[in-house]
Amino acid sequence: MPRDPRHDILFEPIRIGPLTAKNRFYQVPHCNGMGYARPLSHAAMRGVKAEGGWAVVSTEEVEIHPSSDVSPYIEGRLWDDHDIPALALMTEAIHRYGALAAIELVHAGMNASNLYSRETALAPSHIANPASYAPAQARAMTKADIRTYRRWHREAALRARRAGFNIIYVYAGHGLSLPMHFLQARHNHRTDEYGGSLANRARLLRELLEDTKEAVGTDCAVALRFAVDELRGDDGIRSAGEGREVVALLAELPDLWDVNVSDWSNDSMTSRFAPEGYQEDFVRFVKTVTTKPVVGVGRFTSPDTMVSQIRRGVLDLIGAARPSIADPFLPKKIDDGDIDDIRECIGCNICVTGDHTMTPIRCTQNPTMGEEWRKGWHPERIPQRTGEDSFLIVGAGPTGLECARMLGRRGYAVSLAEAEDELGGRVTRESRLPGLAAWARVRDYRLNQLNKMPNVDVYRGSRVTVDQVLSFGATRIVLATGARWRRDGVGRSNSRPIRGFDRSAGIFSPEDVMHGAHLAGPVIVFDDDHYYLGGILAEKLRTSGLEVTLVTPANCVSAWTVNTLEQDAIHKRLMTLGVEIATSRNIVEFNGEHAVLQCMFSGRNSTLPASSLVSVTARLPNDVLAHALAEADAAVGASGILSVTSIGDCLAPSTIAAAVYSGHRYAREFDLPETDGVAFRREHPNLTAGDSL
Ligand code: ADP
Ligand code: SF4
Repeated sequence: MPRDPRHDILFEPIRIGPLTAKNRFYQVPHCNGMGYARPLSHAAMRGVKAEGGWAVVSTEEVEIHPSSDVSPYIEGRLWDDHDIPALALMTEAIHRYGALAAIELVHAGMNASNLYSRETALAPSHIANPASYAPAQARAMTKADIRTYRRWHREAALRARRAGFNIIYVYAGHGLSLPMHFLQARHNHRTDEYGGSLANRARLLRELLEDTKEAVGTDCAVALRFAVDELRGDDGIRSAGEGREVVALLAELPDLWDVNVSDWSNDSMTSRFAPEGYQEDFVRFVKTVTTKPVVGVGRFTSPDTMVSQIRRGVLDLIGAARPSIADPFLPKKIDDGDIDDIRECIGCNICVTGDHTMTPIRCTQNPTMGEEWRKGWHPERIPQRTGEDSFLIVGAGPTGLECARMLGRRGYAVSLAEAEDELGGRVTRESRLPGLAAWARVRDYRLNQLNKMPNVDVYRGSRVTVDQVLSFGATRIVLATGARWRRDGVGRSNSRPIRGFDRSAGIFSPEDVMHGAHLAGPVIVFDDDHYYLGGILAEKLRTSGLEVTLVTPANCVSAWTVNTLEQDAIHKRLMTLGVEIATSRNIVEFNGEHAVLQCMFSGRNSTLPASSLVSVTARLPNDVLAHALAEADAAVGASGILSVTSIGDCLAPSTIAAAVYSGHRYAREFDLPETDGVAFRREHPNLTAGDSL
């Protein structure tokens, strides 16, 4: 299809200092859990973005010196010349598709753990890292230290140019870098020319920009990433105050302003807490203060919204991290007029968990993310079919939908049968919970793709039985029948059923609540799952007017959501709504009138009145059909079925991202030789000649 002319403006080239970006799509820096440790994986992932049409593709933060070591997090590294080849792999992959490569040079200052390097952390003043409880402090930099640091930054810029980068960042965003720490009055208590007035606190940032321009500015563009608002009121930088003043002070110095809000949890808010374009109110002033191009983010996935950002003079370039992760080919799809093929980010922040767990990035919507090199997976290409197999997929949750999409793309005949009239399984149910509407994109994208495939038949309202499987005529049976929440309280903290949870009244599963069961208050939500569901059910029930207490054995609400940057926001929302919170408490009994809570530390019991209790502990696979087919293996063999395979939540309950991955993996790998060894390529430490013990 030809491009919609209304979107032409997105494809206009734009000057950035001495360079020209071929269009307005800009992949801003984002972490990925691969960084210096897995350079081939990293380069391949960035290369796919360039192939997908992004004019600029950036690194994540790249440490410039051993005193900026953020271990155990895996970011980029440019400590000395030895780090150049790994980064050159990435620039080469990006240049292959005519994109510009950008590098975000970072000295993390007091945020550097230096756990690997064992150097001392540096800061404007003597201070402990406010983002960590580590028993170590950063020391106040002397003026000689500042001169040395400027030299490190300059040398890193020169190395970055040698590695092939076109855009070199000075980074003052997210509260994660020295120039930002100098800007922040709460962290900068200096009395010399680098402290006190804003002009003094901004001195280091100005010097870094000047140094970088002087070092590489003739052929590289110099970008400044600056958080214009820290969303902490008068205690921090505000876009209506010092944020604006900094932009005015340095307006024409960088070749590009990359502006956002800080800290990372504010910058990468999930869709549960912020809509597309949520940063506009904070960053819109920037273009009125500088003539230089401005890039900003806002989880942009709609081309109309992107166009509007440019036409209304908010931004010149559309910045994206998550939308480029969910769909590396987003620019190309807009260019080709294939708008309804865009795989829109759902704003769940599973991608962020890779950074937090120090493992390669993954994405709910894009199961190929992080697998580009190690498995050779491409987001838009899949090998064509290798035989005449036909498939019956049972269950149209995220697992079954993705499996059908990819087998369909391969050219196989696919039948997808779903017991319910509605497709989407857990995604459909959960997307009706407060704030999760965007999660329905997991279903809608796949349904839309399936509707275009003549070789895929979808049967709704079709609960599949063993007999139907045997008589259907498919050669391969894929069971994607999902899982259900258990009601007996068994979970992480209770390995046996909880006393009283076998009552016929008063005990509810998450599905009961999602299906609109009537609960009498007061209600206890017992969250021994620790991801989002316990918190969100408490929110839903409280909003419906019930008295709700969330009880959890963890020491905070929705504990695992620290990895999706949501934990603070969830806790705050529950408190604001008036949900009572009892942390570090297990539940050992419920009798329909009260629950017995047990302190996780002292073992002491207390009682809490409750008429209803929602048990959010663990799930059990819906594996009845799998077991029945295993029992009937002789009949299965006689009917010409070559394989019966359980995938997704019905194999082992996990995240929606894992479900999609499982469906995708089956479609790619069912016809590969089986292996019980390592199923992907690994990157090994590169021992060079002369290395010895
Ligand atoms: P997953 O996350 O693995 O996709 P879900 O629970 O979201 O799991 O989806 C599983 C789907 O399978 C549900 O929509 C459920 O209705 C469907 N299902 C379960 N058993 C059968 C069956 N015997 N026949 C058809 N559909 C089934
Ligand atoms: Fe978007 Fe979720 Fe994918 Fe991250 S993991 S890019 S938030 S869909």
